[in-house]
Amino acid sequence: MVRGAGPPEPLSCPRCGATFPAEERFCPECRLPLTLGAESVSDLSERHRRARKVKPQLAEGELVRVAGARNQAEGEFIQGLLLEEGVPSVLRRSPGFDVPDFLAAGPRDVLVAQSGVATARQVLLEAELIPNQPATASVSPGRLLAGLLIALALGALIVWLVTLATH
Ligand SMILES: [Zn+2]
Repeated sequence: MVRGAGPPEPLSCPRCGATFPAEERFCPECRLPLTLGAESVSDLSERHRRARKVKPQLAEGELVRVAGARNQAEGEFIQGLLLEEGVPSVLRRSPGFDVPDFLAAGPRDVLVAQSGVATARQVLLEAELIPNQPATASVSPGRLLAGLLIALALGALIVWLVTLATH
């Protein structure tokens, strides 16, 4: 059994089906993020059905990681949710798991184009797939520091007023 010896999986465009080397990110014709994995011709109608849902304005800019999935199936589930809102996404093996034993299983990163990040986060929040932003949930270190500085400034002001009053 030979494994891990072949070339890396080609990327393909979800709309037109053209394939690209691994360095490419977007199909120059359709301006859509390329997806991993060679798909058979029988997947083409499914891909066209999916591609029609894609909002091109949500497919612009650099790819940004918006979620992590425990495996390929969970990743595809998240991709389906995002696509319902018109956000095309890319699944990638999470860094550190890029070894043959993890090719079929292993965690995946879900990436979307910059212009689709806000919509994607909203979808994931509503599906409770990512935690709420910690900045609103708890006191951030920055706010704590600001509070301390205000307290210090008030203390200094009081000392100054007391000093003025006693002279
Ligand atoms: Zn294309």
